[in-house]
Order: sequence, then structure tokens, then C-alpha cells
Amino acid sequence: MKVLVINCGSSSLKFQLINSEDESVIAKGLCERIGQEGSRLVYSPYEKDKIIIEEEMPTHKRAVELVINALTDKDTGVVESLKDVSAVGHRIVHGGERFAESVIIDNEVIKAIEECNDLAPLHNPANLIGIHACKELMPDTPMVAVFDTAFHQTMSPKAYLYGLPYEYYDKYKVRRYGFHGTSHSYVSKKTAEILGKNYEDMKTIVCHLGNGASICAVDKGKSVDTSMGLTPLEGLIMGTRAGSIDPAIIEFIANKENKDINEVMNILNKDSGVLGMSGIGSDFRDLMTAMESGNERARLTLQAYCYQVVKYIGAYTAAMSGVDAIVFTAGVGENNGFIRKEVCSYLTYLGIEIDETANEKRGEEVIISTPDSRVKVLVVPTNEELKIAKETVECIK
Ligand code: ADP
Repeated sequence: MKVLVINCGSSSLKFQLINSEDESVIAKGLCERIGQEGSRLVYSPYEKDKIIIEEEMPTHKRAVELVINALTDKDTGVVESLKDVSAVGHRIVHGGERFAESVIIDNEVIKAIEECNDLAPLHNPANLIGIHACKELMPDTPMVAVFDTAFHQTMSPKAYLYGLPYEYYDKYKVRRYGFHGTSHSYVSKKTAEILGKNYEDMKTIVCHLGNGASICAVDKGKSVDTSMGLTPLEGLIMGTRAGSIDPAIIEFIANKENKDINEVMNILNKDSGVLGMSGIGSDFRDLMTAMESGNERARLTLQAYCYQVVKYIGAYTAAMSGVDAIVFTAGVGENNGFIRKEVCSYLTYLGIEIDETANEKRGEEVIISTPDSRVKVLVVPTNEELKIAKETVECIK
């Protein structure tokens, strides 16, 4: 079955056409600068050269149209007609409490996603635009919504409630939701497969360390806690996001710098994290280069980053009364052996021993702990698109 996976942002649209049988990517691409000047589609059919199509995309509908044209083009296309695309899987950021699993999209589902808009005002409206555009252009193709939050809906109230007046949960559903659910679910399951264990028997901690970063405790195949909260701002220090801070800092900085709440929130989302701490950048490759050439702030930033990861691992080990496997994934987790080694250097209390040669590998599935290590440590590349395609097939079956 060929499934078109769509990840629609406010000015971008990423897509992959995936063959669900052999899990191969038939084509993928990205529409950039939708609704702006200089919009373009970067289209990569499998094993062929990348094609850049520079065309105006005033709307997401036009972007989807160009994607369909590229996929079905006589020369560069990968399918004869749209009929060959069996379903579309949409990545949706926030499903609130309503969605604990993926669902076939109908009018009622669209309305329910709209109702989650105020929980993710930057993401959900953009995701919905993608749904509407596809609905218009491919009215007969079934569509499925796959939520970033759904995997974490198994958290118990003691894990998702904040220490706030209960009425804010009652009235506004202020609680921990967690994100990267597709990734945490995919990676934790894959880990059990790699270790030849039963998923339902395992306690796993997944460290999704990318630009955005979150950690998840997965007990018997279910998310029991995760570091992101009502929004993706909570938790770890990230590329540009502050992660968890004393909330009183917001008022303190607002007063000192004469800023309003929106300005401070903007700083917490866009100017903080390793970017703000180091003053160098949000990309860990740049931080590594700076540290290696003796930049002390870069070193300190990386140390503080790892320290937070270590603290979450400790907390989640306690929450699950143990851990069988710790897994690194996403851009930093898959590629940065220094960060992995640094984090694991704290974990000897868990009987963890790292195989330095294995830890030098990047971007591939590998067990980086020694055979004697009591807790297994792995790198498992995430694949959110494949997971969305699989969920989509499951739903329409
Ligand atoms: P996003 O959250 O935007 O999907 P990614 O998962 O791509 O982010 O992670 C981005 C981070 O991953 C960057 O800081 C970058 O340093 C790191 N990264 C990505 N690819 C590589 C690579 N090949 N080698 C080293 N670091 C990488």
C-alpha cells in the first residue's frame, strides 16, 4: 500500500510517499515558504536526483497540488495516478485528551482537532490547513490523523497533573500532554525487537534529543511519564527552548528588561536553550566545534545539557522502579557520541558500561553498552514518517 505522509507547518509542508509493505520511501520532499515570496518545492524521487521546482505557492492547497503533480509527472513521477495512493497520513501535533490513538479523518474529527487549537496555536491550525487542502484535491482518498500527543494519553493523573488549582484542569484542561509520541512509541518498540524481548515486559527510557528534545518513560509498552508538558517548552534544555525553569523567572526578566509576557515567552522559545546559553548557535555540531577549540561556554552548555538528561533518566528510573534499556534517538541522540558518553558516565550506578567503539557509530541501530552492562543502552534512529504510514494502514484496514 502506498501512503502519503504529510507534515504541514504554517509555511512549510513536508511529505513522504511510503510503501507500507517493504517500508521503503518512494519519494519525499518539502514545500518551503508557502504564502511568501520565493516559495519552492524540493522533490526527491527514490534513487534519483533531487528536483527543485520554484513556483509560487500562495496557499497550502497550491503546495499539495504541486506535490501531486510531481508524484504523478510523466518523467519524474513515481506513481501513474493519484489512484495509486491508498491513503494520506497527517501528522497532528495536539490531540488533547480526545485522541489516545490515530483516527480516520471525518468532519467530526476535524472539529475535535479544531477544538485543540488553543492548546497548540502555532501547530494545529497549520496541520488542519494540510487536511483541508488534501481533502479538496483528493476527496476519495481516506485520510488518517496521527497525533504527537496520543502515545502519552496512558499517563496517569499523578504524572500529568500540575501543582495548580484543580479548576484549571477542569476548565481548560491544563495538564501534561507530552509530544514526540510517534517517535517514543516507534523507538521503544524497535528497542524491544532489537533486544529480542517482549515489549510488554520492558521498562525503557527513550531520549529523543533533536532540536526539540524530550524524554519518555515507557513501561510495558505504555508511556507513563514524559518531560514535555502542556506545550513542547517544558523539560530538557533544547536547541532554542529553555526547558523547565522557575516560573518566577518570567516575571523577574519582564520587570528587569521591561518586556511583556509575549516577549519573554518568545525569548524562552526562540532565544534560549543551548543557543542562548552558549551564544554560539542551536546546532550541536557548532557547539562541539567550539568546545573542541577551547570555548568554555560551549563546554559548560554541553555539560548543563547532559546533566538535565541525566536527571530525567534518574527520575524515570525511580518512577518505573527500574529500567531495562535507555535509548538515544533524533539528530543529537543518533549522531553525537560525546553527548551519549557524557550522559552514560553518570550511570555507572545502574551498572551501565559503554562500548566506546560501538558508541562511535552514528545514525544506525546499535547497542552501545557492553554485553555485561546491566542496563542496555542503544541508539535507534527514529522514523516518524514510517510510523505515521503504519498507523495509517492500521486505521484504514
Ligand atoms: P528536529 O527537532 O528539528 O527534527 P533533529 O532531530 O534533526 O531536529 O536534530 C537537530 C540536531 O541534530 C542538530 O543540533 C544537529 O547538530 C544534530 N545532527 C543532525 N544530524 C547530524 C549529523 N549528521 N551529525 C551530527 N549532528 C547531527
